[in-house]
Amino acid sequence: MDSTSPPADDDQEWIQRNVSTAGKRLFWGLNGPLEHAITVAPSEYYEPDAVMEPYYLGPASDDVDAAPRWHAVSQESLLTPPTSSITVRIDCFDDWERNWADQHRECWDEVHDSDRRRLGPRPGDETLDAPMVVLECCGEERPWSPDKKLDVVAGAGACVTVHDYVSAVHPWLMGMRNEILDVLGKRDDQPPWPPEAKLAVLYLGPGPLRIGYEGKWASWHQRPPAPRNPVSAEEYAEDARRLWERDLARPAAMIRAREEAAAQGLEDPVNQLYRNQHGF
Ligand SMILES: [Zn+2]
Repeated sequence: MDSTSPPADDDQEWIQRNVSTAGKRLFWGLNGPLEHAITVAPSEYYEPDAVMEPYYLGPASDDVDAAPRWHAVSQESLLTPPTSSITVRIDCFDDWERNWADQHRECWDEVHDSDRRRLGPRPGDETLDAPMVVLECCGEERPWSPDKKLDVVAGAGACVTVHDYVSAVHPWLMGMRNEILDVLGKRDDQPPWPPEAKLAVLYLGPGPLRIGYEGKWASWHQRPPAPRNPVSAEEYAEDARRLWERDLARPAAMIRAREEAAAQGLEDPVNQLYRNQHGF
């Protein structure tokens, strides 16, 4: 990495990064090889009538060994501002470890059997006074979400491009597809999701990847609602004036009705109202 490269993800200097528009346009399924996995939306937001573009554009020539061509977004930076490395994590594994620890937090009172509950520091935590965590309980080993991570580094360019990212992460995720289906179920205390479940990456970050049913992709890419026009001081005063006039108009209308009734020798409408209300 030369001095002109963008800083790595774990640099001391903390930088808020977001997924670039190029990254947000990917509709990325986890159901087969990369060539058929991704289509590209025309914008970063879901539009019901949008025509999706293929990410894989076929071989560069008729030669069977020709390099494949990819959509133009493939060469854009995945994050903004760009970075030369990214550590990828997956939220369902993080959730599952947290849920497992919660599920077994209170076991000690019930188990009373040290063989079935083992405590210790996190693996690799060699600090003095490392906090003790439950390593095993009720005959189950604790799932370790930090084991599920992948470091992606920039390829030919200075920053991690969309293609650097998907070409590293797609085979990694596909290689543990069954484990992902299992954890997606366990996380919610349910059986594993079925092998035929159509999975997609719903959210690329910032933060861990979110994987779920591909039908949920649209709701993760909704265009944010347009901001409501702020009400000006003049409009506010006009509304208040209209409400005030309406309240005043009620007694004024009653006064007019009483005058008209008197002029025509009819019963006072206030008396009439009173009688009606009291039933005589
Ligand atoms: Zn337990």
